[in-house]
Amino acid sequence: MQISRRSFLAQMGLLVAASEALPSLTRGGTPTNTAASPSAPAAPSTSTGWLHDALIWDNHTGFDPVPDYDLEHLEDWRKAGVNYLSIDVGYDVIDWTKTIKNLGAYITWLEQRPDRFLLVRRVDDVLEAKKTGRLAITFDLEGMNALNGDASLVPLYYRLGVRQMLTAYNKNNLAGGGCHDKDTGLTAFGREVIAEMNRVGMVVDCSHTGYRTTMDIMEAATHPVIFSHSNPKTLRTHGRNITDDQIRACAKTGGVVGVTGLGYFLPDRASPTIAVADCVTYVRDLVGVDHVGLGLDYTPPDPKDTGDAGLAAFPDYWPPADYAAPWPMKDVGPGVFAELATLLVGRGWSHGDVRKVLGENFLRVARTVWK
Ligand SMILES: [Zn+2]
Repeated sequence: MQISRRSFLAQMGLLVAASEALPSLTRGGTPTNTAASPSAPAAPSTSTGWLHDALIWDNHTGFDPVPDYDLEHLEDWRKAGVNYLSIDVGYDVIDWTKTIKNLGAYITWLEQRPDRFLLVRRVDDVLEAKKTGRLAITFDLEGMNALNGDASLVPLYYRLGVRQMLTAYNKNNLAGGGCHDKDTGLTAFGREVIAEMNRVGMVVDCSHTGYRTTMDIMEAATHPVIFSHSNPKTLRTHGRNITDDQIRACAKTGGVVGVTGLGYFLPDRASPTIAVADCVTYVRDLVGVDHVGLGLDYTPPDPKDTGDAGLAAFPDYWPPADYAAPWPMKDVGPGVFAELATLLVGRGWSHGDVRKVLGENFLRVARTVWK
Protein backbone atom coordinates (compact mmCIF):
# COMPACT_ATOMS: atom_id res chain seq x y z
CA MET A 1 0.00 0.00 0.00
CA GLN A 2 1.34 3.38 -0.98
CA ILE A 3 1.50 5.80 1.91
CA SER A 4 1.03 9.46 1.21
CA ARG A 5 2.51 11.73 3.84
CA ARG A 6 0.85 14.65 2.20
CA SER A 7 -2.52 12.95 2.41
CA PHE A 8 -1.89 12.08 6.00
CA LEU A 9 -0.85 15.58 6.93
CA ALA A 10 -3.73 17.06 4.94
CA GLN A 11 -6.12 14.91 6.92
CA MET A 12 -4.58 16.34 10.03
CA GLY A 13 -5.15 19.85 8.74
CA LEU A 14 -1.45 20.59 8.49
CA LEU A 15 -0.94 21.56 4.89
CA VAL A 16 -1.63 25.20 4.26
CA ALA A 17 0.41 26.97 1.63
CA ALA A 18 1.79 29.98 3.38
CA SER A 19 4.17 30.87 0.59
CA GLU A 20 1.77 32.74 -1.68
CA ALA A 21 1.58 35.78 0.55
CA LEU A 22 5.32 36.03 1.05
CA PRO A 23 7.79 38.08 -0.98
CA SER A 24 9.88 36.38 -3.62
CA LEU A 25 13.61 36.67 -4.26
CA THR A 26 13.21 36.66 -8.03
CA ARG A 27 13.70 39.76 -10.13
CA GLY A 28 10.64 39.08 -12.24
CA GLY A 29 12.70 38.02 -15.26
CA THR A 30 12.04 35.08 -17.52
CA PRO A 31 12.57 31.80 -15.72
CA THR A 32 15.08 30.49 -18.24
CA ASN A 33 17.42 33.47 -18.28
CA THR A 34 21.05 32.51 -18.48
CA ALA A 35 22.80 35.79 -17.74
CA ALA A 36 22.16 36.13 -14.02
CA SER A 37 25.72 35.95 -12.76
CA PRO A 38 25.86 36.19 -8.98
CA SER A 39 28.52 38.85 -9.34
CA ALA A 40 26.61 40.94 -11.90
CA PRO A 41 25.61 44.40 -10.55
CA ALA A 42 21.97 43.85 -11.50
CA ALA A 43 20.34 43.80 -8.08
CA PRO A 44 17.54 46.33 -7.74
CA SER A 45 17.75 48.89 -4.97
CA THR A 46 15.12 47.29 -2.77
CA SER A 47 15.56 46.45 0.88
CA THR A 48 16.18 42.83 -0.09
CA GLY A 49 18.43 43.63 -3.04
CA TRP A 50 21.48 42.24 -1.27
CA LEU A 51 19.69 38.88 -1.13
CA HIS A 52 19.90 38.27 -4.86
CA ASP A 53 23.54 37.33 -4.55
CA ALA A 54 22.93 35.05 -1.56
CA LEU A 55 22.90 31.31 -2.08
CA ILE A 56 19.46 29.95 -1.11
CA TRP A 57 19.58 26.31 -0.03
CA ASP A 58 16.50 24.28 1.00
CA ASN A 59 17.79 21.04 2.44
CA HIS A 60 14.63 18.90 2.18
CA THR A 61 11.21 18.65 0.51
CA GLY A 62 8.17 16.77 1.75
CA PHE A 63 7.13 15.39 -1.66
CA ASP A 64 5.08 12.26 -1.83
CA PRO A 65 7.72 9.80 -3.08
CA VAL A 66 5.92 8.20 -6.01
CA PRO A 67 7.20 7.87 -9.61
CA ASP A 68 4.43 10.02 -11.10
CA TYR A 69 4.78 12.88 -8.60
CA ASP A 70 4.29 16.15 -10.48
CA LEU A 71 7.77 17.65 -10.37
CA GLU A 72 6.50 20.84 -12.01
CA HIS A 73 6.02 21.85 -8.38
CA LEU A 74 9.77 22.51 -8.39
CA GLU A 75 8.97 25.76 -10.18
CA ASP A 76 7.63 27.05 -6.85
CA TRP A 77 11.22 26.96 -5.56
CA ARG A 78 12.90 28.25 -8.71
CA LYS A 79 10.48 31.16 -9.03
CA ALA A 80 11.03 32.02 -5.36
CA GLY A 81 14.75 32.37 -6.08
CA VAL A 82 15.83 29.17 -4.33
CA ASN A 83 19.08 27.82 -5.81
CA TYR A 84 19.32 24.31 -4.35
CA LEU A 85 16.79 21.72 -3.20
CA SER A 86 17.13 18.16 -1.92
CA ILE A 87 14.17 15.99 -2.96
CA ASP A 88 13.14 13.00 -0.85
CA VAL A 89 12.90 9.87 -3.01
CA GLY A 90 12.06 7.29 -0.37
CA TYR A 91 11.34 6.71 3.29
CA ASP A 92 11.09 3.68 5.57
CA VAL A 93 7.34 3.27 5.07
CA ILE A 94 7.69 2.21 1.42
CA ASP A 95 9.43 -0.80 -0.05
CA TRP A 96 12.99 -0.12 -1.22
CA THR A 97 12.17 -1.13 -4.81
CA LYS A 98 9.75 1.82 -5.01
CA THR A 99 12.61 4.14 -4.10
CA ILE A 100 14.57 2.86 -7.10
CA LYS A 101 11.57 3.47 -9.36
CA ASN A 102 11.20 7.00 -7.99
CA LEU A 103 14.85 7.72 -8.69
CA GLY A 104 14.54 6.47 -12.26
CA ALA A 105 11.46 8.61 -12.90
CA TYR A 106 12.82 11.76 -11.28
CA ILE A 107 16.21 11.55 -13.01
CA THR A 108 14.52 11.16 -16.39
CA TRP A 109 12.17 14.09 -15.74
CA LEU A 110 15.01 16.38 -14.66
CA GLU A 111 17.33 15.40 -17.50
CA GLN A 112 14.58 16.31 -19.98
CA ARG A 113 14.52 19.89 -18.62
CA PRO A 114 18.16 21.01 -18.50
CA ASP A 115 17.17 24.63 -19.13
CA ARG A 116 15.51 24.88 -15.70
CA PHE A 117 17.07 22.18 -13.51
CA LEU A 118 20.53 20.78 -12.86
CA LEU A 119 21.04 17.36 -11.34
CA VAL A 120 24.07 17.99 -9.18
CA ARG A 121 27.17 15.78 -9.15
CA ARG A 122 29.71 18.11 -7.52
CA VAL A 123 29.40 21.08 -5.19
CA ASP A 124 30.43 23.54 -7.90
CA ASP A 125 27.36 22.44 -9.89
CA VAL A 126 25.23 24.23 -7.27
CA LEU A 127 27.02 27.51 -7.96
CA GLU A 128 26.78 26.90 -11.71
CA ALA A 129 23.02 26.39 -11.39
CA LYS A 130 22.65 29.68 -9.54
CA LYS A 131 24.71 31.47 -12.15
CA THR A 132 22.48 30.17 -14.95
CA GLY A 133 19.09 30.64 -13.29
CA ARG A 134 18.49 26.94 -12.73
CA LEU A 135 17.47 25.00 -9.63
CA ALA A 136 20.18 22.60 -8.43
CA ILE A 137 18.79 19.22 -7.33
CA THR A 138 20.07 16.30 -5.28
CA PHE A 139 18.11 13.48 -3.66
CA ASP A 140 17.76 12.24 -0.09
CA LEU A 141 16.56 9.10 1.67
CA GLU A 142 14.54 9.10 4.89
CA GLY A 143 15.61 5.86 6.52
CA MET A 144 17.94 2.97 5.83
CA ASN A 145 15.17 0.54 4.85
CA ALA A 146 16.04 1.81 1.37
CA LEU A 147 19.16 -0.38 1.58
CA ASN A 148 17.24 -3.64 2.06
CA GLY A 149 19.87 -4.67 4.62
CA ASP A 150 22.79 -4.20 2.24
CA ALA A 151 25.33 -1.40 2.83
CA SER A 152 26.73 -1.93 -0.67
CA LEU A 153 23.72 -0.01 -2.02
CA VAL A 154 25.14 3.21 -0.52
CA PRO A 155 27.62 3.85 -3.38
CA LEU A 156 24.91 2.95 -5.90
CA TYR A 157 22.52 5.53 -4.46
CA TYR A 158 25.33 8.07 -4.37
CA ARG A 159 25.94 7.58 -8.08
CA LEU A 160 22.21 8.09 -8.67
CA GLY A 161 22.38 11.51 -7.02
CA VAL A 162 21.52 10.75 -3.37
CA ARG A 163 23.61 13.05 -1.18
CA GLN A 164 22.10 12.51 2.28
CA MET A 165 20.32 9.74 4.19
CA LEU A 166 18.86 9.53 7.68
CA THR A 167 19.00 6.37 9.76
CA ALA A 168 15.45 5.58 10.92
CA TYR A 169 12.18 7.23 9.93
CA ASN A 170 10.23 7.64 13.20
CA LYS A 171 10.21 3.87 13.86
CA ASN A 172 13.07 1.44 14.60
CA ASN A 173 14.68 -0.40 11.71
CA LEU A 174 17.68 -2.64 11.07
CA ALA A 175 20.10 0.28 11.50
CA GLY A 176 18.83 2.06 14.61
CA GLY A 177 16.03 3.72 16.53
CA GLY A 178 13.31 6.07 15.36
CA CYS A 179 12.21 9.20 17.19
CA HIS A 180 8.72 7.80 17.86
CA ASP A 181 9.94 4.34 18.99
CA LYS A 182 11.80 2.73 21.90
CA ASP A 183 15.26 3.60 20.71
CA THR A 184 17.95 1.02 21.51
CA GLY A 185 20.79 2.76 19.71
CA LEU A 186 22.79 2.42 16.53
CA THR A 187 23.17 -1.23 15.46
CA ALA A 188 26.21 -2.93 13.94
CA PHE A 189 24.52 -2.64 10.55
CA GLY A 190 23.90 1.07 11.16
CA ARG A 191 27.58 1.57 11.93
CA GLU A 192 28.54 -0.28 8.77
CA VAL A 193 26.25 1.94 6.69
CA ILE A 194 27.54 5.16 8.23
CA ALA A 195 31.13 4.12 7.60
CA GLU A 196 30.19 3.47 3.98
CA MET A 197 28.43 6.85 3.74
CA ASN A 198 31.56 8.55 5.04
CA ARG A 199 33.64 6.64 2.50
CA VAL A 200 31.57 7.61 -0.54
CA GLY A 201 30.73 11.18 0.56
CA MET A 202 27.04 10.91 1.50
CA VAL A 203 25.95 13.26 4.30
CA VAL A 204 24.79 11.54 7.50
CA ASP A 205 21.41 12.96 8.55
CA CYS A 206 19.95 12.50 12.06
CA SER A 207 16.40 13.83 11.53
CA HIS A 208 13.52 11.45 12.40
CA THR A 209 15.98 9.26 14.31
CA GLY A 210 15.82 8.41 18.03
CA TYR A 211 17.82 10.37 20.60
CA ARG A 212 20.20 7.57 21.60
CA THR A 213 20.87 6.53 18.03
CA THR A 214 21.63 10.11 17.00
CA MET A 215 24.07 10.52 19.89
CA ASP A 216 25.76 7.21 18.91
CA ILE A 217 26.05 8.45 15.33
CA MET A 218 27.50 11.84 16.26
CA GLU A 219 29.93 10.24 18.71
CA ALA A 220 31.23 7.96 15.95
CA ALA A 221 31.15 10.58 13.20
CA THR A 222 34.26 11.27 11.18
CA HIS A 223 32.48 13.82 8.95
CA PRO A 224 30.03 16.65 9.75
CA VAL A 225 26.57 15.29 10.61
CA ILE A 226 23.35 17.21 9.98
CA PHE A 227 19.74 17.33 11.06
CA SER A 228 18.19 18.04 7.66
CA HIS A 229 14.80 19.17 9.05
CA SER A 230 14.35 19.31 12.83
CA ASN A 231 13.45 22.07 15.29
CA PRO A 232 14.51 22.76 18.90
CA LYS A 233 12.47 20.77 21.38
CA THR A 234 12.92 23.54 23.95
CA LEU A 235 10.69 25.77 21.80
CA ARG A 236 8.16 23.12 20.82
CA THR A 237 7.80 19.83 22.69
CA HIS A 238 7.34 17.16 20.02
CA GLY A 239 8.85 13.72 19.39
CA ARG A 240 10.22 14.89 16.03
CA ASN A 241 12.04 17.88 17.54
CA ILE A 242 15.53 17.70 19.05
CA THR A 243 17.12 18.50 22.39
CA ASP A 244 19.87 20.98 23.15
CA ASP A 245 22.21 17.99 23.63
CA GLN A 246 21.56 16.85 20.09
CA ILE A 247 22.04 20.35 18.68
CA ARG A 248 25.36 20.73 20.54
CA ALA A 249 26.57 17.30 19.40
CA CYS A 250 25.69 18.17 15.80
CA ALA A 251 27.61 21.45 15.97
CA LYS A 252 30.60 19.63 17.47
CA THR A 253 30.85 17.51 14.32
CA GLY A 254 30.91 20.68 12.22
CA GLY A 255 27.35 20.00 11.08
CA VAL A 256 24.20 22.06 10.60
CA VAL A 257 20.66 21.91 11.99
CA GLY A 258 18.09 22.57 9.25
CA VAL A 259 15.05 24.29 10.73
CA THR A 260 11.83 22.91 9.24
CA GLY A 261 8.85 25.01 8.23
CA LEU A 262 6.22 22.33 8.90
CA GLY A 263 3.69 23.86 11.23
CA TYR A 264 3.51 20.89 13.52
CA PHE A 265 7.11 21.30 14.58
CA LEU A 266 7.06 25.08 14.96
CA PRO A 267 6.53 26.86 18.27
CA ASP A 268 3.23 28.64 18.64
CA ARG A 269 4.02 32.26 17.76
CA ALA A 270 2.27 35.10 15.95
CA SER A 271 3.12 33.72 12.52
CA PRO A 272 4.94 30.70 11.07
CA THR A 273 7.71 32.88 9.67
CA ILE A 274 8.31 34.40 13.09
CA ALA A 275 8.31 30.87 14.53
CA VAL A 276 10.94 29.82 11.97
CA ALA A 277 13.00 32.91 12.87
CA ASP A 278 12.71 31.99 16.55
CA CYS A 279 13.99 28.47 15.86
CA VAL A 280 16.88 29.77 13.77
CA THR A 281 17.78 32.32 16.44
CA TYR A 282 17.59 29.70 19.18
CA VAL A 283 20.05 27.39 17.42
CA ARG A 284 22.40 30.32 16.70
CA ASP A 285 22.35 31.39 20.32
CA LEU A 286 23.03 27.83 21.47
CA VAL A 287 25.83 26.76 19.12
CA GLY A 288 26.71 29.67 16.84
CA VAL A 289 25.60 30.96 13.47
CA ASP A 290 27.75 28.47 11.55
CA HIS A 291 25.49 25.58 12.54
CA VAL A 292 21.98 26.54 11.45
CA GLY A 293 20.24 26.37 8.07
CA LEU A 294 16.85 25.54 6.59
CA GLY A 295 15.17 22.31 5.46
CA LEU A 296 11.57 23.35 4.96
CA ASP A 297 10.03 19.91 4.24
CA TYR A 298 7.39 21.75 2.24
CA THR A 299 4.83 19.97 0.05
CA PRO A 300 2.92 22.10 -2.45
CA PRO A 301 -0.83 21.42 -2.69
CA ASP A 302 -1.47 18.80 -5.40
CA PRO A 303 -4.93 18.07 -6.83
CA LYS A 304 -3.87 14.48 -7.59
CA ASP A 305 -3.46 13.83 -3.91
CA THR A 306 -6.83 12.43 -2.92
CA GLY A 307 -6.11 10.94 0.47
CA ASP A 308 -5.47 7.40 1.63
CA ALA A 309 -7.72 5.51 3.96
CA GLY A 310 -4.88 3.14 4.82
CA LEU A 311 -2.86 5.79 6.64
CA ALA A 312 -4.45 5.07 9.99
CA ALA A 313 -3.01 1.56 9.70
CA PHE A 314 0.49 2.99 10.37
CA PRO A 315 0.24 4.61 13.81
CA ASP A 316 3.79 3.42 14.58
CA TYR A 317 5.13 5.88 12.04
CA TRP A 318 2.82 8.74 12.98
CA PRO A 319 1.48 8.26 16.52
CA PRO A 320 -1.92 10.00 16.54
CA ALA A 321 -1.13 11.68 19.87
CA ASP A 322 1.89 13.42 18.32
CA TYR A 323 -0.01 14.63 15.27
CA ALA A 324 -3.36 15.61 16.71
CA ALA A 325 -4.97 18.59 15.01
CA PRO A 326 -5.41 21.44 15.24
CA TRP A 327 -2.05 23.07 15.71
CA PRO A 328 -2.05 26.83 15.06
CA MET A 329 1.15 27.13 13.05
CA LYS A 330 0.88 26.73 9.26
CA ASP A 331 3.51 25.33 6.92
CA VAL A 332 5.84 27.76 5.19
CA GLY A 333 6.86 27.34 1.55
CA PRO A 334 9.90 28.47 -0.45
CA GLY A 335 8.76 32.10 -0.37
CA VAL A 336 9.72 32.20 3.30
CA PHE A 337 13.42 32.78 2.61
CA ALA A 338 13.00 36.48 1.71
CA GLU A 339 10.66 37.27 4.59
CA LEU A 340 12.87 35.39 7.02
CA ALA A 341 15.94 37.30 5.86
CA THR A 342 14.14 40.61 6.40
CA LEU A 343 13.00 39.50 9.84
CA LEU A 344 16.48 38.45 10.92
CA VAL A 345 18.06 41.68 9.68
CA GLY A 346 15.35 43.51 11.60
CA ARG A 347 16.50 41.64 14.69
CA GLY A 348 20.00 42.97 14.19
CA TRP A 349 21.57 40.13 12.24
CA SER A 350 24.33 41.04 9.78
CA HIS A 351 23.82 40.24 6.09
CA GLY A 352 26.78 37.88 6.33
CA ASP A 353 25.20 35.88 9.13
CA VAL A 354 21.86 35.70 7.34
CA ARG A 355 23.62 34.41 4.22
CA LYS A 356 25.15 31.62 6.27
CA VAL A 357 21.69 30.53 7.42
CA LEU A 358 20.12 30.82 3.97
CA GLY A 359 22.65 28.55 2.31
CA GLU A 360 26.34 28.96 3.02
CA ASN A 361 26.38 26.66 6.06
CA PHE A 362 24.90 23.69 4.21
CA LEU A 363 27.16 24.49 1.25
CA ARG A 364 30.14 24.22 3.61
CA VAL A 365 29.00 20.77 4.79
CA ALA A 366 28.56 19.62 1.18
CA ARG A 367 32.07 20.85 0.32
CA THR A 368 33.46 18.92 3.26
CA VAL A 369 31.57 15.66 2.74
CA TRP A 370 30.65 15.17 -0.94
CA LYS A 371 33.22 13.58 -3.22
ZN1 LIG B 1 10.91 14.09 7.11
